[in-house]
Amino acid sequence: MSYQYQQREVPKQPEKEFILGKGRISGYCSAFLGGLSLLAVLAYLFPAYLTTAELRSVYDPQVLQQVLKYGMWFSLFFGVLTFVLNSHKWLGFFGLSATLVAFALGGYSIPLNDVPAQPLSLGVDWLILAFLGSTIIFTSLEKLFPKYRDQVILRDEWNLDFIYFCINHLLISVLLLVGNYIVSQLHWAMNSDLQATLQALPLAVQVLLVLIVADFILYWEHRTFHEVKHLWPFHAVHHSVETMDWLAGSRSHIVATIIERSLVMVALYLLGVDKAALDIYVTIAALQAIIIHSNLNIPWGPLKFIVVTPQYHHWHHSSEAPAIDTNYAAHTVLFDRLFGTYHMPIAHWPAHYGTTRRLPRTLIGQFLYPFKKS
Ligand SMILES: [Zn+2]
Repeated sequence: MSYQYQQREVPKQPEKEFILGKGRISGYCSAFLGGLSLLAVLAYLFPAYLTTAELRSVYDPQVLQQVLKYGMWFSLFFGVLTFVLNSHKWLGFFGLSATLVAFALGGYSIPLNDVPAQPLSLGVDWLILAFLGSTIIFTSLEKLFPKYRDQVILRDEWNLDFIYFCINHLLISVLLLVGNYIVSQLHWAMNSDLQATLQALPLAVQVLLVLIVADFILYWEHRTFHEVKHLWPFHAVHHSVETMDWLAGSRSHIVATIIERSLVMVALYLLGVDKAALDIYVTIAALQAIIIHSNLNIPWGPLKFIVVTPQYHHWHHSSEAPAIDTNYAAHTVLFDRLFGTYHMPIAHWPAHYGTTRRLPRTLIGQFLYPFKKS
């Protein structure tokens, strides 16, 4: 008998909705901007410890000080507004206090000096930029093209996934350090003839090649995490999300994150394509990783038969029988097709997300989960 697909039911949560004039929007805006402003000021004060060398070479700290200026003033404005509207005042209070502390510490006019190199630092700059950018871009997209229109922005467990988002971004230099260390041990495995041949190819071809090689590695790495009994609990943390949106993909056990990132990084390094091709690939991969977890229903046209889309990856997160252990790929559907793990009922989306056996719901509980005897 064929499987009966069902419609997912998303209950309305009017008390969690953002409605103009209620003080909730201004409260969260003030807290959001105030918190980020304070973090930014700390990053300007202690750049050696709180910013990332790789990122510093990309952005202009002077331009970002202008962004910070607007962030701080808007946080004050929204903070005051919560008191005028007489609602969510604790959020306004938090936003105002954080911004006032940020002003007291020097605000947006902290002098910029040369930053001494540190082997390890916290990626506070990466966290701020990624969170600000992602919130604006992906929350807007999810409101414009939602799959589940009644799903609220601050859905259940958003705060848990936010903590995962922070950890993943703050630890970027640890991830880079692990990857770079492994790479430094593998010089013997590099083939300069292969690298010269690849670097002579057009950039677009190099990007495509990197994408397919990475997809192959990610496919088997992902499938191994699913199908090897002792590895599954590490990856199950990522699958414990029961509401999908752009933030949901952040949930991942740190051990799984380190293994996944360093495996791809090492393989691509050994391949030896142009740095420009790698940079383009990393950008595509990062955006795709967020998009495929999002509450997003965009008409992809024929692309949906080629690349991994939200619908495709949502099926990977489904707890329904026909979808278990399918759709492992990260970029294209190629390897799922090739190795028999493709599951894409075009007319349907999952009705249920998560793991068949429920995981602990706290950060510590999820961290310890793989180390406990089942
Ligand atoms: Zn998975």
